[in-house]
Amino acid sequence: SKLTNDDVRSLANDLGVKFIRLQFTDIFGVLKNVSITVEQLEKALAGELMFDGSSIDGFVRIEESDMYLRPDPSTFVIFPWKPRDGAVARLICDIYNPDGTPFEGDPRFVLRRSLQEAESMGYSTMNVGPEAEFFLFHVDTEGRPTTVTHDRAGYFDLTPVDLGENARRDMVLALESMGFEIEASHHEVAPGQHEIDFKYSDALDIADKIVTFRFVVRTIAQRHGLHATFMPKPIFGIAGSGMHLNQSLMKDGKNIFFDPNLPNQMSEDSMYYIGGLLKYARAIAAITNPNVNSYKRLVSGYEAPVYIAWSSRNRSPLIRVPAKRGLSTRIELRSPDPSCNPYLALAVCLRAGLDGIKNKTMPPPACDRNIYDMTDAERSELGIGNLPENLYAALLELQRSELMQDALGKHVCQRFIDAKLIEWDRYRIQVHPWEIEEYLTKF
Ligand code: GLN
Ligand code: MG
Ligand code: MG
Ligand code: MG
Repeated sequence: SKLTNDDVRSLANDLGVKFIRLQFTDIFGVLKNVSITVEQLEKALAGELMFDGSSIDGFVRIEESDMYLRPDPSTFVIFPWKPRDGAVARLICDIYNPDGTPFEGDPRFVLRRSLQEAESMGYSTMNVGPEAEFFLFHVDTEGRPTTVTHDRAGYFDLTPVDLGENARRDMVLALESMGFEIEASHHEVAPGQHEIDFKYSDALDIADKIVTFRFVVRTIAQRHGLHATFMPKPIFGIAGSGMHLNQSLMKDGKNIFFDPNLPNQMSEDSMYYIGGLLKYARAIAAITNPNVNSYKRLVSGYEAPVYIAWSSRNRSPLIRVPAKRGLSTRIELRSPDPSCNPYLALAVCLRAGLDGIKNKTMPPPACDRNIYDMTDAERSELGIGNLPENLYAALLELQRSELMQDALGKHVCQRFIDAKLIEWDRYRIQVHPWEIEEYLTKF
């Protein structure tokens, strides 16, 4: 059962907590925190702590900058790597305006709003299981991160003398002590690349956990003298890092994606949910793949999706339906990468899926062939489109999609697009090493 304010008070007392970090994320999913001492806890739990919202990217202008933090007691955990004497705990917060209304620029609120939409349709819970991948790199003699890894391992390899394996073990231990149920952790395809999977839970809990996960992985890596990165494609020519999002909906204690009476045991609504995700896939990409670099991962040859299709067998399409049925029946969206804001990513996925259910959006038939091997003509005959080729194209799709704007709310959507267009332009005007290599001697 979930922790209450009273539980937080007694835990803080029993565990000798001295410092409490109040955390939230900006619209880009970057974790922010204010540290308070335990003496301030009462004030914090009463939602009386204020901060200046104008100094947070994408939040508000100076004139309207007072924001209040309301800690969610169910998110109370102790940081296990800190000393037990004068322990450090954290609470994730919702953000409120001075007049007591929820702040519409708070990503947690954006996800809550999508979840309310699901509830109004009778779905009590959106369950999500994420599979976050990341790289572990060495730091140089000055402690600056590099893209060098000494490990030569690949998928599921176990190498006895690998710094990365040790770091990953400590990450799993830290996460477990913070209430994560780790289902699997393994070396991924590329050298230096790892994956840690934790048990599915409801969407809000999982979004909180993803943000916490990234922070823990980076912290523990640093303690091992390594740099962990969730950048989607740090090295050209080898696999990038994805964060597959396995999704399902619950109604009356049942997984509504499962229907034992149909040939493939996938319910009609699950097909419509897929239909919705496919329909909005290009706009969703702006949120699930929010960086210039994200689109360097979405290329063929590295198990990352490029084409808008679904399959129950192969892994080349955007959506896969894993073989598990019953309570574990789910839809795996393979485009998201671990640099995204998980609250916004889940909010837009859910709204797209619900829209599919509402409008009975039937997806095209499953595509069980390798889509990468098809010709353009074959793909277009089957109605298989592709994901945006770069951030700019994705942002234009987001700008055009009324449903996605509604899912994010005007405030978040506009600030997100404005900031990302500037980011795109900063990239666009650069002269990249590739161009020097290609043209310097040619012309
Ligand atoms: N790294 C791949 C990606 O970018 C996924 C590999 C896998 O988990 N099968 O999505
Ligand atoms: Mg996996
Ligand atoms: Mg993987
Ligand atoms: Mg997967």
